[in-house]
Amino acid sequence: MASLGEPKNTIAILNKYNFVFQKKFGQNFLIDPRVLEKIVLAAGIEKDDLVIEIGPGIGTMTQYLCESARHVVAVEIDRNLIPILTGDTLKDYSNVTVINEDILKLDINRIIKEQNGGRPARVVANLPYYITTPIIMGLFEAHVPLLNVTVMVQKEVANRMQAEPGSKDYGALSLAVQYYAEPYIAANVPQNCFMPRPNVASAVIRLTLHKEPPVSVEDEHFMFALIRAAFNQRRKTLVNALANGVGELVSKEAVTDALGRMGQPATVRGEMFTLADFALLSNILQENK
Ligand code: SAM
Repeated sequence: MASLGEPKNTIAILNKYNFVFQKKFGQNFLIDPRVLEKIVLAAGIEKDDLVIEIGPGIGTMTQYLCESARHVVAVEIDRNLIPILTGDTLKDYSNVTVINEDILKLDINRIIKEQNGGRPARVVANLPYYITTPIIMGLFEAHVPLLNVTVMVQKEVANRMQAEPGSKDYGALSLAVQYYAEPYIAANVPQNCFMPRPNVASAVIRLTLHKEPPVSVEDEHFMFALIRAAFNQRRKTLVNALANGVGELVSKEAVTDALGRMGQPATVRGEMFTLADFALLSNILQENK
């Protein structure tokens, strides 16, 4: 297979079809075979797997995925890419389905039911950066059956997803991601691995879904409302951030009292709180409501 990851092969396809990059779709195609190999390796794809690829572009990574998986479903929003994929770069693969759709509008649960009998699949993608968080959180919150999600994202976003309490990158995104999955940054990827070059550095992150939630929480929505409020005003103490941010749902006294029961100082800030701390705080506040 002549890898499209070789820059000259990508350029040949782009020229053949007079392809014009669409900035609004976050189109930065990978042109480094070593990075492609790293992504596929990090995803841990096995011969029997269904893989869902978000945004195949001209099919560079899709070719690697087709070589490793039983079946690949590639979802691409840009209709100008569809004839390139189906008529050219993927035409020799019988184990791929190309869907021309916006990933945010697609029912992935249904696809996994149809293509994999509902068994968990893997998501692999070089994501369009303008919708990284909605894509990942959309998959998690819809409880799509997945083994892992291995994706290229902005390096800064990968750092936030993997951050631990007390670090400057720690925030609502770290907690939201870590509630559903265990993050692992598999590679840092410089700008020159893409065509055209993005403005920011990138990283490959693998999110391995938890089999059971790591904490037991009565009301997920309430806990995430607390988390958002805590980090909306991250310089404030938790007591003040929550009393201002969650409105009439929690009073200053209730938070102070709950922190006391947890053995936490009244001056603690959200950035020091672990997921288990937020779950406990949420449960105590719910119980006393
Ligand atoms: N996988 C290719 C590669 O690595 O070279 C392309 C990656 S490029 C960063 C992102 C791809 O996602 C583009 O092909 C873009 O058209 C597609 N895309 C953007 N928004 C999308 C959406 N909402 N749904 C599906 N695909 C989308």
